Amino acid sequence: MVLENFALTRLNTLALPAHAARYLEIRSTEQIEALTTDHSLRGMRRFVLGSGSNLVLTGDFDGLVLRALIPGRRLVGEDAGHWHISAGAGENWSDFVQWTLAHSWAGLENLSMIPGSVGAAPVQNIGAYGVEVADRILWLAAFDTITGKSMRFSRKDCCFSYRTSVFKQEGWHLDGRHIITEVTFGLPKRWLPQIAYADLSAELAARKKFAPSAQEIARSVIAVRRRKLPDPAVLPNAGSFFQNPIVYAKKAAELSAIYPEMPAHPQADGRVKLAAGWLIECAGWKGKRLGPVGFYEKQALVLVNYGGARAADVAALTRVAQSDVRKKFGVDLVPEPVFL
Ligand SMILES: Cc1cc2nc3c(=O)[nH]c(=O)nc-3n(C[C@H](O)[C@H](O)[C@H](O)COP(=O)(O)OP(=O)(O)OC[C@H]3O[C@@H](n4cnc5c(N)ncnc54)[C@H](O)[C@@H]3O)c2cc1C
Repeated sequence: MVLENFALTRLNTLALPAHAARYLEIRSTEQIEALTTDHSLRGMRRFVLGSGSNLVLTGDFDGLVLRALIPGRRLVGEDAGHWHISAGAGENWSDFVQWTLAHSWAGLENLSMIPGSVGAAPVQNIGAYGVEVADRILWLAAFDTITGKSMRFSRKDCCFSYRTSVFKQEGWHLDGRHIITEVTFGLPKRWLPQIAYADLSAELAARKKFAPSAQEIARSVIAVRRRKLPDPAVLPNAGSFFQNPIVYAKKAAELSAIYPEMPAHPQADGRVKLAAGWLIECAGWKGKRLGPVGFYEKQALVLVNYGGARAADVAALTRVAQSDVRKKFGVDLVPEPVFL
């Protein structure tokens, strides 16, 4: 049933107030097919919503919001190296990871407790503690609402890179054309733990887990996340607010000469990834507020809504933090969430 003038405030983890002119919950591919022939919705702007945990609502949306709630998770096959596991776009990501671990299918443990839905995970190629979901995706199914056909995207078709994919490119995610309906993961039969990430290895060492199981890694990831990140149910936020900037080696070397303690991670292409949180902290914004919004006191990369914030408050803090970081370091910060 298409609902009108639907409040989205409880459907975005930053808790920004906004309404959608039309709102529809999608629970099956057949329902999307029916949608493509509904003349009353033809030509209307569309946006596909998951759990709203990577979203900044900049105001009311005058189109149709489609909330992807397609359920289901199952083992669909295997090859010599991998178990093939499929999940519906509407499955809760965190519950899905726990379910795979409960079945002894390791490989997603580092991505434990990331809020959001399975369908959104490929959109920004979610990543944490040294693993990106792109490493585990075999293919996904997406319904093209223009052609009325379901398409299969291989990992290559998805054009994954750091916190992005073909689905996050300009003109794709904001036109609501492609609705990801199901994602299939390849989870390794011969699993190798990924525990090099500093916070994670420190947590495992503190727990005296020197050859940890996937379950133990998941528990450690969850413990670190609980310590460092605010729970959106208590303090509304959208996770990391800026992408970690990737700069040329020459620029990184210049900055390292001035700030020897600056975290810098060389990339395969010769460039260097800097830590956006560290840059914001050094620009003086950690724990600091501007009106009802601010950067979290335990993790400067997280912009939080202390209560009653509106889109203009978020925009003002975004601008001033970007400007201060640019002045101090000559580095541009790009927001990580999608702005609608
Ligand atoms: C506390 C906190 C911690 C976080 N930690 C991390 C982290 O460690 N690593 C990380 O990578 N991210 C992190 N995030 C960001 C967020 O959890 C992820 O980006 C997540 O995948 C978003 O899922 P969602 O369902 O909420 O997507 P939404 O916010 O609803 O949507 C995000 C984008 O995906 C699109 N989309 C959603 N579903 C579909 C679909 N079925 N088909 C097509 N397009 C779709 C939307 O149109 C939009 O463009 C964090 C967020 C919070 C609040």
